[in-house]
Amino acid sequence: MTHATARAIRIAREDRTPQDDARSVAACIRKRLIDAGQRFNANDNIAAFIHPGELDALRDEVEERMQDVLDTLVIDTANDHNTVDTAHRVARMFVDEVFRGRYEHAPRVTSFPNVAGIDELIIVGPITVRSACSHHLCPIMGRIWLGVVPDADSDLIGLSKYARLCDWVMSRPQIQEEAVAMIADEFERRIRPVGLAILMEATHFCIHWRGVRDGEASMTSSAMRGTFRHDAGLRREFLHLAKGAAGRQVHAVGQES
Ligand SMILES: [Zn+2]
Repeated sequence: MTHATARAIRIAREDRTPQDDARSVAACIRKRLIDAGQRFNANDNIAAFIHPGELDALRDEVEERMQDVLDTLVIDTANDHNTVDTAHRVARMFVDEVFRGRYEHAPRVTSFPNVAGIDELIIVGPITVRSACSHHLCPIMGRIWLGVVPDADSDLIGLSKYARLCDWVMSRPQIQEEAVAMIADEFERRIRPVGLAILMEATHFCIHWRGVRDGEASMTSSAMRGTFRHDAGLRREFLHLAKGAAGRQVHAVGQES
């Protein structure tokens, strides 16, 4: 954004009326979601409610509001060469990068019938994932391991698709415990396995950077579905293999049956 554009946005903002805000693209999308009774929490995908071309307008609106935030923080973006384009950059980062999992449809995942009738434990990971906490929008950096036990009726998906789907769910403001459950739901629906295990280990910058400022703490959470819920041996095998992949100790949290 040029200085002239920044100035134009500022002038447009000063002229903004409550009626303009009600006509905003964000307000239109929000109304569609409410009318459909659809939840739109930070970690929900709302792609089905965004019409073609609206994402560009939405990005512009986020930029305007981000400029409001910078102005309210009393940062002289008109004269500070470092922040003159910050509202534009942050809007693009939120909509097109770090939170795109809210606005983009799910990645296409081709599945294959399990013709060989594989029924042994498959482990995928570690998959590197990045997200932000819903509470402070601080980064979360983590790794995910998946354990899948298919049967003859299950579908199998390509290795890279595991990473794509995890990235899609994690590219939203998240809470780690909910993210793990959401990822489990996505894979359960697509693979229809008899058992599914998800393990996520992540560091949260809202602990490192602010609050208690603990540089070491990490969080491990898991979701155990199907046979993993009642087969302690299978759970142990999964955690042992994930631990081997990690090269260090991994503790699963909860879901003991
Ligand atoms: Zn936080």
